Amino acid sequence: MSDKIKKLPSHVASQIAAGEVVQRPASLVKELLDNAIDATASQIQVLIKDAGKELVQVIDNGMGMSEADAVMCWERHATSKISKTEDIFKALTMGFRGEALASIASVARVEMKTKTEQDELGTEILLEGSKIISKEKLVCETGTSIAVKNLFFNIPARRNFLKSNTIEFRHIFDEFNRSAIAYPEIQFELFQDDKKSIVYHPSSLLARINTVVGLSENDWMEINEETSILKITGYCSAPEKSKKSRGDQYFFVNNRYFKDASFNHAVMSAYEGLISSDTFPAYVLKIEIDPAMVDVNVHPTKTEVKFEDDKNCYQIIRAVVRKAIMKAFGGEQISSWFDDNKFVQDNINGSVEEAHNFKTQASETVGTGVFSALDSFKYDYQQKRNEVQRGWEQLFPKSNETTNNIFESNSTISAAKQFFQIHNQYIVTQIKRGLMLVDQQAAHERVLFEKYQTALANKPVSSQQLLFPKTIHLSVSDEIVLLEIIDDIHQLGFHINHFGKQTFVVNGLPAELHLLNEQQLIEEVIEAYKAGKQAETHKKDLIARTLAAKASIKAGTSLSADEMNSLIDDLFACAEPLKSPHGKTCVKMLSLEDIAKLFDHKI
Ligand code: ADP
Ligand code: MG
Repeated sequence: MSDKIKKLPSHVASQIAAGEVVQRPASLVKELLDNAIDATASQIQVLIKDAGKELVQVIDNGMGMSEADAVMCWERHATSKISKTEDIFKALTMGFRGEALASIASVARVEMKTKTEQDELGTEILLEGSKIISKEKLVCETGTSIAVKNLFFNIPARRNFLKSNTIEFRHIFDEFNRSAIAYPEIQFELFQDDKKSIVYHPSSLLARINTVVGLSENDWMEINEETSILKITGYCSAPEKSKKSRGDQYFFVNNRYFKDASFNHAVMSAYEGLISSDTFPAYVLKIEIDPAMVDVNVHPTKTEVKFEDDKNCYQIIRAVVRKAIMKAFGGEQISSWFDDNKFVQDNINGSVEEAHNFKTQASETVGTGVFSALDSFKYDYQQKRNEVQRGWEQLFPKSNETTNNIFESNSTISAAKQFFQIHNQYIVTQIKRGLMLVDQQAAHERVLFEKYQTALANKPVSSQQLLFPKTIHLSVSDEIVLLEIIDDIHQLGFHINHFGKQTFVVNGLPAELHLLNEQQLIEEVIEAYKAGKQAETHKKDLIARTLAAKASIKAGTSLSADEMNSLIDDLFACAEPLKSPHGKTCVKMLSLEDIAKLFDHKI
């Protein structure tokens, strides 16, 4: 049999490879903008004709190219940005594959003019089907202009696949806006069929995204957070400014736009309960991370990236967005409830021990230098936790006298905030953007639940010794269950000893439960535990949840101003302040817009 395998002619191979990079006119815009940005341009013009099918031209005032480079740049794998494998993992430039220009030249006619600062004269090069057909010296400005004409002129099938002008222009516009948001300090101009249609002047990020997204300054909540593994800056729209479409959602990593369904979910879940399910927040979140911790080389068009530590990144994103929302709603009040580092770290790890493990683990991968910040936060965190713990232990004792004494000596805390209790059930307070309603029972359940979780995870809570130890008798099956959870409930402040023969002696109970009937309390814990076990809930969570429900202040209990104050403080020191452990809503925010709507005011 005759041999069948032949090497493809190079122009065919290039066209196939080009298919990966150049899919439509918008791909040209993206690649040419990336190159202009990498050439440190401060002004970039984009000219489009016939939705890019006739012309895509990008003119920049960047560093330009020498004559030799102007010839070389059209070769496949020719790049000035990296030279060895390791560089790929350090690259902070938009490009590094040296593929874009070679691909473009294989599927279109190209004209380039370029000049460096040092050169007197520039170079003009014309290419057709990857071949340089003319090269001349000319007088021109420093910078580079690349005009790509008649895209896919030599591949009619490809050309026929292009969509309507409206759709192709939409894609171009998206690419243009992504670069514009990534680099607000650069001036971007877009000309459409010879008409200047957009000018973005150099500006702050906020001003740039206001122009691009079409919201105003007060509609955004700022994000600015640095953790041990990454830094996030940017803006998210206020919940009430959510949009009907998800178009205005931007993630950038080291200034490169990317899409990530999971990170998007992290943001959406931070807004949960605050926006209706058919609306979408606008956001621009810029992640800065060691380039070694993120792989941007997944696909040539590069909107997909892979984070080394995506689980932690997810948690951090969710935590910082939620923090921003809380701040925006509560203004100074609520923001003081969030100790910056603590809040973020708490949401990542849940406990100091885990934070420590996380640190050790992370420092193995990144090096130790950057983690000193984490050490100082650890101290704050511990202190804050102790405070919350103490506040809690002093909260809601049976005698109101003691409560007042405790808080009078600490009256600065309460001075700043004003709370009203309505129907002995809800706490109302004014916040920056409207008002906040707290369900006291759900909120207290949340506070106790997290306290018990901490107790179960590490340190036991204090217990109240009974003056007269009580003996309780249980059924055989309850005896087995109680023995199964006895170590855990010791941690929670139950001092119970097994006497054998279905008999236990209770010497002490958690402080806030000591007035309840011991036998009944323990039987209820056992019942709830059995019920939950069938649902396969985590044992410790189940115990914590049951006790929290049991011990929480109930609707109908009157609270003093100080008690309300402490409850709200403790609530916002929680990792998940918005929902009770049983999934009930603890906090509802009514924005000024919502209130205005109630009165049929136009806004
Ligand atoms: P990459 O950007 O991955 O290096 P490209 O094919 O896009 O590959 O570009 C090849 C090279 O051409 C770049 O590395 C750069 O040196 C040069 N180049 C391309 N566009 C410009 C420009 N607008 N200004 C200056 N140099 C450019
Ligand atoms: Mg490039």
